[in-house]
Amino acid sequence: MLRLVLYTLAGLLVLAIVGYFIIAAPIADARFNKKPEAPSEPVSDRAQAVHDTTMVADLHNDLLLWPRDPLERYDRGHTDVPRLREGNVGLQVFAAVTQVPQGRSYAGTDASSLDQIPFLVAAQRWPPRTWRSRLERALYQAQKLDQAVNRDDALTLIRTQDDLDRTLARRADTPDVMGTLLAVEGLHALEGDAANVDTLVNAGYRMMSLTHLFDNALGGSSTGLEKGGLTNFGDNVLGRLKRQNVIIDLAHASDALIDDVLARTSDPVVVSHTGVRGTCDSPRNLSNRHVKAIAEQGGIIGVGIWERAVCGDTPAATARAMRHVADLVGVEHVALGTDFDGTVSVPFDAAGLPHLTEALLAEGFTPDEIQQILSGNVVRVLRMTLPSNA
Ligand SMILES: [Zn+2]
Repeated sequence: MLRLVLYTLAGLLVLAIVGYFIIAAPIADARFNKKPEAPSEPVSDRAQAVHDTTMVADLHNDLLLWPRDPLERYDRGHTDVPRLREGNVGLQVFAAVTQVPQGRSYAGTDASSLDQIPFLVAAQRWPPRTWRSRLERALYQAQKLDQAVNRDDALTLIRTQDDLDRTLARRADTPDVMGTLLAVEGLHALEGDAANVDTLVNAGYRMMSLTHLFDNALGGSSTGLEKGGLTNFGDNVLGRLKRQNVIIDLAHASDALIDDVLARTSDPVVVSHTGVRGTCDSPRNLSNRHVKAIAEQGGIIGVGIWERAVCGDTPAATARAMRHVADLVGVEHVALGTDFDGTVSVPFDAAGLPHLTEALLAEGFTPDEIQQILSGNVVRVLRMTLPSNA
């Protein structure tokens, strides 16, 4: 009898372990990156025609964190390379997320509360070094993208201005060509060592935000507890980022951190994925003052499509936020940062991007302006900020 109970318990334990390593991650993926219903209104012929001739450059996508082969088409989540191609995306920035504290909230996220990433990466059977190390998580995500690029002739990793120009030239004849660029979301990935900037750069990372959801050793987050400015360590890291021509991303930065970084750099910066307080008031979104200051330095604002960024669950809400930025500082500073697969609620997946073009036309933007917003401005800033060779 005892033996039967023991065998039953052992069997249940094995089932639980097998279940964890096989189905837990896909279940979390489908739940946190819910695939949206296709919008009920079809895209008009005019919008589709404008979209078909307009390459999309998206400044922010978290696909690499999830249990999906980037090259396969999935019925869950927001993106994969086939759906990005269907949405006419020619340039995609993939961001590495390395720490997500439990109980995160706009009211204040505590960096010391339990990190959920080890559970997600262990469930995907990532190497054990990634279970412990945030730097290793970033390096593994770069490796994941590298492997996808190596298996697909029309997918490139952009490290230099030359890579960008070559990718765009190829794309002119071959619409399947898609460039990718690596970004880090929050430099707690350095694990306290500024020299790890070089490690990340060598792995291909070209865009980095100082903070993510919580205050870290570099400075304050817009959703942190203190929301402070740049620390001495952050200042030291900023110097390295500039020497390595890393593009600075101010998404998730606190107001004080934005002020401090802008005071110390004259190069264009990006805000890879954000909303604006002018249409959606939240601490996570940019104030008019910061929109102006970023535009004055030649930077771009990647407006998001997710509900909490634009206070709405329609493409029109994103178009409205883009209109606000364009009216404030000019259309040449407006860009797109979807936050696809960033555990957010979005009105369409990557294949549905023509719905955004429809909303931009309805908002009164011309096809030329839509081209600037959807990719022209990003390409201009990357040409100015990427290293000329590597
Ligand atoms: Zn983010």
